[in-house]
Amino acid sequence: LPTIVPEVREDVWLSALKGLEEWRVPHVPTVVLAPHPDDESLGAGGLIAHLRANGVPVTVVAVTDGEAAYANDDGQAELRVVEQAAALRQLDVSETAITRLHLPDSDVSAHEETLFDMLLPLVAEGTQLVAPWPRDFHPDHEAVGRVAARVAEARGVDVMWYLFWTWHRGTPEILRGRSIVKLSLDQWELARKRDAIGCHVSQLHRGDGQPILSEELLAPTRWPFEVYLR
Ligand SMILES: [Zn+2]
Repeated sequence: LPTIVPEVREDVWLSALKGLEEWRVPHVPTVVLAPHPDDESLGAGGLIAHLRANGVPVTVVAVTDGEAAYANDDGQAELRVVEQAAALRQLDVSETAITRLHLPDSDVSAHEETLFDMLLPLVAEGTQLVAPWPRDFHPDHEAVGRVAARVAEARGVDVMWYLFWTWHRGTPEILRGRSIVKLSLDQWELARKRDAIGCHVSQLHRGDGQPILSEELLAPTRWPFEVYLR
């Protein structure tokens, strides 16, 4: 696995993101879509902690089990599902609030119609949808984002987009002209998010090489705010 080197330095992002409008999060039932087990924590862990602390129901839809993170490594799905459940416990989301769709990791784009049919009954009117941005520089994230847009349209609900690979494979240019908001996280929310990310052990540590989530890739998850596009 090649080490992923961010396109631009963290401080370039931080200066580009200065002065963002604060998102006044609606406290309505929320459905968070995670293409892989860890995206919910990396992309929206602070939001989930914030909503749960305010008693808002949060459902997480795990689209794949993340079995393709490392090549030639059996048993990843079983491990990552357990890690994700532990992470979500840190964010006060119980296992009964996780829906697993078991679509194939790295091949979600071949199953967009199936995903649409599976998601539609999970997104009720009056909920808000939180999904990876359809241009988040990963085929599965983009496929989930595209389907989320269709489901939101069909249900007449709002969707907020989170980012992860954009921080590493994109540049501030790509966000220019878009409606961007931030959700400031307090120390408690930030700690919950950090603890949730820490549960994804298989992505953070490798006995035999570089983990996918290097310290460099985790840097944006430590910012005291999360960024959402609408
Ligand atoms: Zn992912």
